Amino acid sequence: MSVARPNLGAMTVTLDAGRSSGAEPGTTAPETTTPAEAAAERTTAADSTPRRPSLSPSRAADFKTCPLLYRFRTIDRLPEKKSRAAVRGTLVHAVLEKLYDLPPAQRTVEAARTLVDPAWAELREEPGITELFEAPEGAPGDGPAPKAESLEAWLASAGELVETYFRLEDPTRIQPEGREELVEVTLPDGLLLRGYVDRLDVAPTGALRVVDYKTGGMPREAFEGKALFQMKFYALVLWRTRGVVAAQLKLLYLKDGDALTYSPDEAELLRFERTLQAIWAAIERAVETGDFRANKSRLCSWCDHQALCPAFGGTPPPFPAEAAAAAGWRTTLPLTTVG
Ligand code: SF4
Repeated sequence: MSVARPNLGAMTVTLDAGRSSGAEPGTTAPETTTPAEAAAERTTAADSTPRRPSLSPSRAADFKTCPLLYRFRTIDRLPEKKSRAAVRGTLVHAVLEKLYDLPPAQRTVEAARTLVDPAWAELREEPGITELFEAPEGAPGDGPAPKAESLEAWLASAGELVETYFRLEDPTRIQPEGREELVEVTLPDGLLLRGYVDRLDVAPTGALRVVDYKTGGMPREAFEGKALFQMKFYALVLWRTRGVVAAQLKLLYLKDGDALTYSPDEAELLRFERTLQAIWAAIERAVETGDFRANKSRLCSWCDHQALCPAFGGTPPPFPAEAAAAAGWRTTLPLTTVG
């Protein structure tokens, strides 16, 4: 594999449009769920059609970070607070998605900036969004809550991120094949991998480029592996579904105006596939027994579930074995409804 830190030249791209998304909660808070995943989770929650358990990059990262956090999010499906940084990520992704609806010559900075207000008008209709601007916000452990950022300042900051995008790419020269593209594959052992690619470009030669927009800052080198985890996930699924190893995985950091690129190879993706299978095996064992351990780390500062976490003196609710079984998980625990 090769990783390039500095920005790279544009790869020639082609083809038609689709949709886009992705996101990052900001400079310090970790990314939890991309906007596309969040939208898909809302749809799944509203849809009574049974789905079998699957692994996404965000949920795999959750389990690696803290198995109990994975349980709270995926099995218990406990609600979590939205943050302004995460919502700004959603807004910026929506603008970049709509930008590619315009004819190439009209994809200017000015046009992109005019897309911010209508995208916000749509987004603020979602539950819990407008409330974010009614009180100061601060992460647990951050000390006194910072002075509340006005909605106007927040919208302006989203506009700046959109403008920075134009320093990284020339959208008049790009015609994505897919935006907010659902990619999924079932591996031979039955593991279902599902994820949403912010943007997928295909060159006339058939070369694939996977692009992800980040509204947070570029990670230090020591954390690049974490940033690339999600991209390798997409590359693996695309390789298994299309038989093509992506020529380039590209993370665009809009806060810094910088890019991180990565060129995987088959051997790397095979190793990564084994990593995902090992994570999945560990998740299945945990669900079977209901044993999800807390793993305390710096990231606990952004966890909404400290009150239920043994690492903070809390007690998790009884494992919802019945709900897990209904969702298609194998579990050896008695299926009695709690409550
Ligand atoms: S507070 Fe920390 S250890 Fe507890 S569930 Fe959250 S991330 Fe895990």
